[in-house]
Amino acid sequence: MKKIALIVAAGKGERMNADIPKQFLLLNNLPILMHTLNAFADLDKRILVLPKSQIKNWKALCKDYNFELKHILVAGGINRFSSVKNGLRKVDEGSIVAIHDGVRPLISKNLTNKLIDTTKRGIGVVPVVPIKDSLRKVEGDNSKAVSRSSLYKVQTPQCFFASTIKDAYRQNFSLFFTDDASVLESNGGKIITILGEEQNIKITTKADLRIAEVFMQ
Ligand code: C5P
Repeated sequence: MKKIALIVAAGKGERMNADIPKQFLLLNNLPILMHTLNAFADLDKRILVLPKSQIKNWKALCKDYNFELKHILVAGGINRFSSVKNGLRKVDEGSIVAIHDGVRPLISKNLTNKLIDTTKRGIGVVPVVPIKDSLRKVEGDNSKAVSRSSLYKVQTPQCFFASTIKDAYRQNFSLFFTDDASVLESNGGKIITILGEEQNIKITTKADLRIAEVFMQ
């Protein structure tokens, strides 16, 4: 069965306060997105979703860095949901798709393989990591401790049969959809979790970029 990576990187990355979207910033002298694409080099196909306005820049960057790993470019939408939906159009029927945040360049091939191997029809497989901090629910002036014992942080890649996730993405958008697992679940699908990796961080701020550099050493 064909294995496809769908990498979404069409966000504006405003939390980074940089002039260019965070996914193009350098990590160990290479744009973050090139690390992310390289992590999926063993798969059969890679689809990269970018802001429409950045496609020309990206092609120039690939030339500058002699980046030759084959991938298909797709223009993104106004939110992650619509960017994934656009990318799914290029996902072949009958394949398994690993949907991944472009700004998680430290994903290991080992974790991706484990997720793909666990994927079944109608079921999504998602990496999660335990929460280390104490948690508190804050509502106005009131707050209350929340037990962290059964709460986990959700990572990507999230893996699905193509037909399963394409069907789920036919739903109307809801603000509750922050990842692909939430989209599948709302369509009646079941999610299996497996342990993710601490180093598979989402680079959102300048501090995250520093942390990623340390992990890469
Ligand atoms: O905004 P958030 O941090 O949840 O973004 C997660 C991933 O989704 C990022 O890699 C980002 O580039 C991508 N995204 C996208 N299209 C959007 C918004 C976010 O592909 N319109």
